[in-house]
Parts: sequence; structure tokens; C-alpha cells
Amino acid sequence: MTLSDLAFDRDHIWHPYTSMTQPLPCYPVVAASGVRLQLDNGQQLIDGMSSWWAAIHGYNHPRLNQALQAQIEKMSHVMFGGITHPAAIALCRKLVAMTPAALECVFLADSGSVAVEVALKMALQYWQGRGEQRQRFLALRHGYHGDTLAAMSVCDPQNSMHSLYQGYVPSHLFADAPACRFDDEWQEHDADPIEALLSQQASSLAAVILEPIVQGAGGMRFYHPRYLRRVSELCRHYQVLLIADEIATGFGRTGKLFACEHAAITPDILCVGKALTGGTMTLSATLTTRHVADVISEGTAGCFMHGPTFMGNPLACAVATESLAILQENDWPQQVFAIEQQLRTALMPLHSHPQVADVRVLGAIGVVESRHPVNMAAIQHFFVSQGVWLRPFGKLIYLMPPYIIDPAALQQLTSAIAAALDQPALFQ
Ligand SMILES: *Cc1c(COP(=O)(O)O)cnc(C)c1O
Repeated sequence: MTLSDLAFDRDHIWHPYTSMTQPLPCYPVVAASGVRLQLDNGQQLIDGMSSWWAAIHGYNHPRLNQALQAQIEKMSHVMFGGITHPAAIALCRKLVAMTPAALECVFLADSGSVAVEVALKMALQYWQGRGEQRQRFLALRHGYHGDTLAAMSVCDPQNSMHSLYQGYVPSHLFADAPACRFDDEWQEHDADPIEALLSQQASSLAAVILEPIVQGAGGMRFYHPRYLRRVSELCRHYQVLLIADEIATGFGRTGKLFACEHAAITPDILCVGKALTGGTMTLSATLTTRHVADVISEGTAGCFMHGPTFMGNPLACAVATESLAILQENDWPQQVFAIEQQLRTALMPLHSHPQVADVRVLGAIGVVESRHPVNMAAIQHFFVSQGVWLRPFGKLIYLMPPYIIDPAALQQLTSAIAAALDQPALFQ
């Protein structure tokens, strides 16, 4: 890439959550392979982010490439209205088999946020089908469900963008986030706030939506499985649907194939995305029960009112099916367990560092929460100088590496975090 390429990028291209007038620097990546990103100056960076939870098998995987090539030879895309194809059928068979037994009906969409939109619309149409006016959702504080308008409306009301979009974003109900951590002793009263809201508001609530066990972009918090279990029981009791957003947690990241398994629950609606294609293409899916699908289909509309242009894109489906096959063959529980053990050994001792407020590890996710927010540009530059790719936000320095990472590369990531804590200039 030339200097003028980078100048063009700065002048004309938006990046996620980035100013067009005062952009933070962007690092030019020209290739990626295994757990390494290659910069245009030849430097290799060990990837600690899996490109935001997605690239679980690492980059440039020969089998994923092969699956894409084989599908390209047949067809890259064909509309899904009135047409079906082997790539979608193979993927949906796998998704139905892997997810809890009651989830039988699959809606394929383009991204995580759209999967959440679909889930919310399914819940609304379900209650219409039952002849009830239920138009509110109950979500958790510190939650994150995506950036489109409806998804945004169920994100944490403070940390997210509600105030910016007041009037456009419908106002839903929020329960305090669970305080009981994943490995704390369970405190029954932790579920009192959500129970209170459910008992008072059930008849106006279409669904509860939450991220099971791990609240990701809203704070990287890991909560107690008994909380999830309790919410699931309360939803049954008060007859409110439960939507589990497993877009970040799905496919083994927390040490279970789906985080719902920590609490042995089955939601009424499940969203998956991110790692679904092993990080190669954008694709998501929303699964639901036969009962919910039947009620929607027998309602006034006579169908579910959604149908994206690129629904069931054959390339994305083919590569997702291959990624799920690799996941199963690779003994992912062992991969994730090994990462978890090493993260615990390397990160837990940082707890006593004066810069550190908290350290937490679950599955292949490690979080070091600092006392002061990071200085983004400075810490990003520091990590690149250490040969690693980590992208903290706020006070959270976190990593969720590809499952294939080896101990030496993982150690380089955790050592870079430890080294950063010793540099006060990297924090505000
Ligand atoms: C990333 C994420 C989304 C949004 O997915 P996109 O593909 O970015 O639209 C929704 N929910 C959770 C829990 C996520 O982590």
C-alpha cells in the first residue's frame, strides 16, 4: 500500500466507531495466515482478537478456501425466494443437529445485527399470531446486541447510543445486569430485579433478550449459570419468550458449544453469527422452535415477514458448513480448555498489579480490566511494536485468540498485555 492509499483511506473510508475528521491510525494488513496478520511492511502480528470472535480456525485455512472454491465453481449466489440449494440445506441440517433439540427452524441472514432484528420480529409476530398486543422487550444492562436500530434498542441504555437516537429508538425495559460472577457462589437474590420486572410487565412483554453467560461488547462480564437458569424458568413461568444472543459466545468460545449449555437451558429463539463461517464471510442464523414457527405462520401475515436479498448465500453457507466440520474434527473442547488454562496461569497473577482492577478468564476469553481507560492510539501502537494484534476498548484489554493458537504465540499475547500495564503513558 502506498502513502496515497492510506491518505485516501483516511479521507474517504469510515472505520468502525471512528471519526471521519480525527481518525485513529489504521494498520495496513495485506495478508493473514494461521494466527498471524501480515502488515504491508512485512511485519507479522499474532492475532489475539480472531477478528472480533470470528476467525476461530485462524486465517487462510486451506479447507475453508477449498470449500469456497468448490462452491464458486457451482454458483456463488442465487436468490432464496422460491429456490433452495444443497449448500443451505447442508448448513441448516448441521445447525439443527448442533443446537438444543427443540430448535428446529432456521432463518439465515446476513449479519449478527440482522439475526437479532429477525429474532425480535419473530417474537413480535409470535404474539400477534396469538392475538396478544405485546411490543416490549426486556433486556439486561451492559448487554450488546448489534448496531441496527432495533438491535440497538435492546443494548445497554447508558453505554450505547440511546441518547443519540432519542425518539427513534423504542424504549424497552432493562434489568440490572447480574452481579454474581461465573465462579462466585450463587446468590438467589441476584435474579430479583429481573423477576420483579417480569412479574409486573409480563403481559406487555414479547421476549427477554440476553447474551447467555458472557456479556461481550457491553463490558466483557461473565455471569453465573444459575442466573441464566433462573431467567429461563421465569420466562416459562410468566410466559414470555426467551431470545439467546449467542453471536459472540456460540461455537465453543466459552468452553461449551453454546453458552446456554452452562445452564442446560433451551431458549425459544437463538441467534448465531460471528464464528459461523470461521471468519471468512458474513452470515448469521436465527433458530426457533416448531411451536414459535407454527404460530407465526398461522398468524395474520401467514408467513414470517423477512427475506434479505442475499439470504442463504451459497458461498457463505458452504464455508460455514466446512467450518463447523473442522470445529467438530479439531477436538475444540481440548483446544479451548488448553487456552483457558494458559490464560489463567498468565493473566491471574496480574490481579495484584496497581494498574489492574480485575482479571477474568472463561473458555478462550481473557480480560484484564484496568483502573484507567487506555490511550487507544498509544496502546495500539505499543501492541504492534510487540508483534501482537490486540484492540482494547475503554478499560478493557481482552483477548479471544483463534482456537488453533500454540502456547508460544499465546504467551507472546499475554506477555504484551503484562508489559503494557507497566507503561503509564498507555493509559489516560
Ligand atoms: C457482534 C455481536 C452482534 C452484532 O453482530 P454484527 O455481525 O456485528 O452485526 C450482536 N450480538 C452480539 C452478542 C455480538 O457480539
